[in-house]
Amino acid sequence: MAADPLALATELLRCPSVTPAEGGALAVLERVLKGAGFAVHRLTFAEAGSAPIENLYARIGTTSPHITFAGHTDVVPPGDEATWRHPPFAAALEGGTLYGRGAVDMKGAIACAVAASLDHLATAGGKPKGSISFLITGDEEGVAVNGTVKLMQWAKERGETFDHCLLGEPSNAAEVGDTIKVGRRGSLNGTLVVTGKQGHVAYPERAENPVRGLVSLMSALMAEPLDHGSANFGPSNLEFTSIDIGNTTVNLIPGEARARFNIRFNDCHSQVSLRMLIETRARAAAGDSARWHIDWQPSNADSFVTSPGAFLDLVVSAIKDITGRAPTLSTTGGTSDARFIKNYCPVLEFGLVGQTMHQVDERTPVADLTTLTTVYRRILDRYFA
Ligand SMILES: [Zn+2]
Repeated sequence: MAADPLALATELLRCPSVTPAEGGALAVLERVLKGAGFAVHRLTFAEAGSAPIENLYARIGTTSPHITFAGHTDVVPPGDEATWRHPPFAAALEGGTLYGRGAVDMKGAIACAVAASLDHLATAGGKPKGSISFLITGDEEGVAVNGTVKLMQWAKERGETFDHCLLGEPSNAAEVGDTIKVGRRGSLNGTLVVTGKQGHVAYPERAENPVRGLVSLMSALMAEPLDHGSANFGPSNLEFTSIDIGNTTVNLIPGEARARFNIRFNDCHSQVSLRMLIETRARAAAGDSARWHIDWQPSNADSFVTSPGAFLDLVVSAIKDITGRAPTLSTTGGTSDARFIKNYCPVLEFGLVGQTMHQVDERTPVADLTTLTTVYRRILDRYFA
């Protein structure tokens, strides 16, 4: 009998695994994967200043080729549960649609990958012609320091090598099969700080208003594009997200003004070159008229793109066979754990439809679970053919 992705997705959705809580989700996977003959490792990673997080690594087979399914069982909080059509951790089924936090991001896809693997193994005498593994973290939606980044390191230290990775993030825009993510933009945060001299607002000549400098620096940084895009990416973008002066006094010129910004950047830049570009532009705009500096936050999110090759061809053709769609190869959207995995093996992202991710009433059609399971199964059958 075929493994049932709906039953497994339902069980996973009923685990309240809001980051950093494990919520029982990894225990479900451990039980199912152990039952199918996987060697399962449960790993807790910790670091000062962050919550300890549980992770899971499971592998069947000892030889190459080795394909690994990566993913996360943690979910973002449901928000006001009263606004949900069905309770967010009930996994309610209505009209062929499965509701629940994590339905598409991304317990649903994990259920599909497990079901596809079990089906493949059932027809392969219980063992793959190589290895199948699962790299599952509980720290993707949070700060992501005790998750995939440490899991990959741990795996490397014990001699695990991976040939290819499929990450089941909700890559599709409208229908299963419309999009594969083949890379991701980088992300960099900074705070622009302009220092002035505090004073009475009626005597501006005795003060130095940092708001003037902040405004002209901000408009200079927003005026010119950072680039015009590249072969695989759209243009990089800088957005200011907050202006922080915090001055509650009406007759006071403040001594300092700050503005926070985020840059989503493509492969025209490294973090270092991007910082230099921004600081050069700020220096030119400020001249001698403003004292400023930028506090850059450390970032573990560089841009990357997975090169075309046999693995991409295999995934594309499996998607075409099952869904009849020719997937767009995209690098849009936020960051994902693919940014850590790409240092170890080629990684592609293909999962469910992302429309309701992080929203109230997150949900997936059951038909999509069936389709995705069939696609994953086809990928495995071809991979080990
Ligand atoms: Zn996700």
